[in-house]
Amino acid sequence: MSRTYIVRTYGCQMNEHDSERIAGLLEADGLVRVASEAEADVVVLNTCCIRENADNKLYGNLGHLKTWKGEREGRQIVVSGCLAQKDQELVAQRAGHVDVVMGTHNVHRAAELLAQARTSDRPITEILTEAVVDDQAMFPSALPARRETSYNAWVTIQIGCDNNCAFCIVPAVRGVEMSRPYAEILDEVAHLATEGVTEVTLLGQNVNSYGRDLQITARQAGDDSVRLRPLFSDLLRDVGAVDGIRRVRYTSPHPKDMRPETFAAMAATPEVCEHLHYPLQSGSDRVLALMHRGYTAERYLERLAEARRTIDDLAVSTDIIVGFPGETEVDFEQTLEVAAAAEYDYAYTFLFSPREGTEAAAMTADFVDAAVAGERFQRLRLVVERAALRRHEARVGRIEEVLVEGPSKRDPSVMSGRTRQNKLVHFTPPRPLRTGSYATVEITRGAPHFLEGQFVEFISEPTHKLRIPVAAL
Ligand code: SF4
Repeated sequence: MSRTYIVRTYGCQMNEHDSERIAGLLEADGLVRVASEAEADVVVLNTCCIRENADNKLYGNLGHLKTWKGEREGRQIVVSGCLAQKDQELVAQRAGHVDVVMGTHNVHRAAELLAQARTSDRPITEILTEAVVDDQAMFPSALPARRETSYNAWVTIQIGCDNNCAFCIVPAVRGVEMSRPYAEILDEVAHLATEGVTEVTLLGQNVNSYGRDLQITARQAGDDSVRLRPLFSDLLRDVGAVDGIRRVRYTSPHPKDMRPETFAAMAATPEVCEHLHYPLQSGSDRVLALMHRGYTAERYLERLAEARRTIDDLAVSTDIIVGFPGETEVDFEQTLEVAAAAEYDYAYTFLFSPREGTEAAAMTADFVDAAVAGERFQRLRLVVERAALRRHEARVGRIEEVLVEGPSKRDPSVMSGRTRQNKLVHFTPPRPLRTGSYATVEITRGAPHFLEGQFVEFISEPTHKLRIPVAAL
């Protein structure tokens, strides 16, 4: 009887991608995925540490899992991801019933550590302080992946981050920036396309600085052949040119490294979708400087205008933090002004949350009163929701290509899918369409967070092989 497992993922796309790899490794080791803890022998908690309450959530879950573990012989608990990377031995000290604690740099060891723990009478904690300089460990493309969907895929192009945004714990838990070899990325995309994947999302903490380190590494190794820094814009063009790939997306770029040739590549490469995620964080130059963001509001808006001039019908989303230590009413009003001027299609807005180990967490004397921050947050939501509604209502009457994601969560008789601008559309086709199909829809209504439409035409069926996992290369 095969052992069973479940992976619970917290946080960002990078974690979702790591979870696909961990699941693939466990399945390659003979485990079978189940939908609930009750059915599982192994629970993997792939953690995030971006938000303050992340710790409470983890240790709360581990408390419940103690009872779960005692209910069946041989059950195991794995804690992986950024919070494990940050807390290290503390996890096993606080929850002695865990079996494996592993970090962000040794995803490739998941199955081995789990097997090792079966014969160990105490938790196994393996946290690497930096990425193993071995492509298969750093960029586990050769690792089996249990992808959540079969028509689109994450493709890691870079790990880590060389920036030091004052509020962000990522560099501490994901390490320095390392770009993946160019050819290897194209190989993986080509392989995914043979598996029927039509949409890829290029993944990194700071994708538009892709390649910066490759040139330096080559030079240090005395290899002068890498004269020019491989550019993100080149990668966009070449990934778009891979046979079978219909849509290319990427996340997350940094405004300070955004270059005109990236916009030009987006405009010139039909497969690259008309959506740019462009994190602002604050509209006040004073706060941007405190955050070490490396750009001004004026520069940010200039680049945004350039992107909109260069790329037709571009949708723009962003991230904004409210209540960063020291933020005054004047600073906040500048954020409102920039958000209004930027007219976003969608904005992820966050209340500042101090993360132990970050520069901003030590700025306690300047923390903004929670009620003040909360009130500002509501005002910002009004501005960005109004803009999103305007931009969505402006799509009424347009014919949009939609990639079908499946039945709508709210009403199974309705289908949901995403436009090239990454907008969610609900529509009712004459017959159920397979997930991964393409169709055209005429937009009939715009709401702040989604669109509604009328089915127009069927374009194509998915060709993906339903069987997952995939040995990528
Ligand atoms: S760019 Fe800044 S916010 Fe983004 S991961 Fe790096 S340090 Fe964090």
